[in-house]
Amino acid sequence: MANVGRQTLLREVLSLVKCPKCSAAMESVSYQGIEVDRCTKCAGLWFDMLEAEDLKKLSGSESIDIGSAKTGKAQDKIGKIKCPKCAASMLRMVVNGQPHIWYEACPVCYGTYFDAGEFKDFKAENFMDTVKAIFRKERK
Ligand SMILES: [Zn+2]
Ligand SMILES: [Zn+2]
Repeated sequence: MANVGRQTLLREVLSLVKCPKCSAAMESVSYQGIEVDRCTKCAGLWFDMLEAEDLKKLSGSESIDIGSAKTGKAQDKIGKIKCPKCAASMLRMVVNGQPHIWYEACPVCYGTYFDAGEFKDFKAENFMDTVKAIFRKERK
């Protein structure tokens, strides 16, 4: 019983999450039942543990990433951020196989933050990335 009450409270608190990069309010966006937080200003995306991986598998999920890649690229400069959910210092990461995508990951709650345009890119790990990877290896 007490558990139900705590969960309800948690949900209300979570809807007040602030963007770790620009401090603007974040809104909840859900795609096929997976709920993520998106910044109302810079359009950065916050994913709870494994949500980014889960969403990547769903076709059409790139539609949640409405921000411009240009804004996202500028936000890459802000690399030292605190987790918006547990306040731990987040780690600066690159996507395996897509080293041009920089994102931040929380070592405590395993949430991840993608700048605008990066989730779309992450999801589109495709032919061009394969080609780029091949060419990167050529002369090494
Ligand atoms: Zn923001
Ligand atoms: Zn965290």
